[in-house]
Amino acid sequence: MAERILVLGSSGQIGTDLIAQLRKKHGSANVVASDLREPQDSSYDGPFEVLDATDKEGMLRLINKYEITQIYHLVAMLSATAEKFPAKGWDLNMLSLFNALELAKEGHYKQLYWPSSIAAFGPTTPKQNTEQYTIMDPTTVYGISKLSGELWCQYYHNNYGVDVRGLRYPGLISYKAAPGGGTTDYAVEIFHEALKNKKYTSYIGANTRLPMMYMPDAIKATIGIMEATPEDVKIRTSYNLAAFSFTPAELAIEIQKHIPDFEISYKEDFRDKIAQGWPQSIEDSYAQKDWGWKLDYKLEDMVSDMLQKLAAKYQ
Ligand code: NAD
Repeated sequence: MAERILVLGSSGQIGTDLIAQLRKKHGSANVVASDLREPQDSSYDGPFEVLDATDKEGMLRLINKYEITQIYHLVAMLSATAEKFPAKGWDLNMLSLFNALELAKEGHYKQLYWPSSIAAFGPTTPKQNTEQYTIMDPTTVYGISKLSGELWCQYYHNNYGVDVRGLRYPGLISYKAAPGGGTTDYAVEIFHEALKNKKYTSYIGANTRLPMMYMPDAIKATIGIMEATPEDVKIRTSYNLAAFSFTPAELAIEIQKHIPDFEISYKEDFRDKIAQGWPQSIEDSYAQKDWGWKLDYKLEDMVSDMLQKLAAKYQ
């Protein structure tokens, strides 16, 4: 049977790219976008509905209206913003997830995707090649909500048979939509500023290293895990996922290969401290082994593609 897909939080950084890819694959009419705000992408050509993901009845109405079989849940208050509004961040991140889990448990649709993050790890997690099963002691509201969410996903799978799947994304870099208030937003902003002003002031310290990934790989992994057979998805908390790691200073050197007079300076803020509590690199062999995850973009490929795509946008 053809899938009929609902994307929650579709107007954000990931949703904008995911919607385009899902519509290419399943046909525009079979992929329903939903968010509190209008889409950022002007090339939209399928159904869009205003939906508050904390409204369970509203979610059910859309599931019934479009005979939805799969939900991609992308609604969250991200790490930097949630530190400013802890209670709101917790409520949004948990309530929207519970609604999707409950509706799956009640049998209204078949399959749920919900992403976790490297923020689910914490300061005492081993920082290099961080493994799937290791210490997880998040210290941010966002990280606490991600670790709790992972465990709830596993609980609904074990106890109610809910087919829920997830990935622990690293920081994601993309050119279509602006990032939404995370700690790794600098790694997107830097490209815009390099092209517009040839300089950038980083709020992350020169030597703070974080795991990152280019959006096409994140979308490939997201659709990949949803298309895997249920038996192959052995981990129901969330899978580690990795591409490359860099510091702001190293990213600047990579950008200077294309824009030699680009300059970076530093003015660290609270986000540097958040970043220092996260892993520096990730080990993702379970994703490779269980459902065939394979990376396409290395750091150099990502940098040249970002600059090319954004340069075309600014012309
Ligand atoms: P984003 O902030 O860009 O997008 C989230 C979207 O949710 C926004 O368009 C926002 O309008 C919408 N939204 C907020 N409250 C809502 C509500 N009550 N009802 C409906 N929509 C609402 O986030 P993103 O970067 O696209 O992230 C998507 C998911 O991936 C999140 O769960 C996030 O934690 C996770 N993630 C993202 C990254 C990254 O680097 N982008 C890294 C790790 C994990």
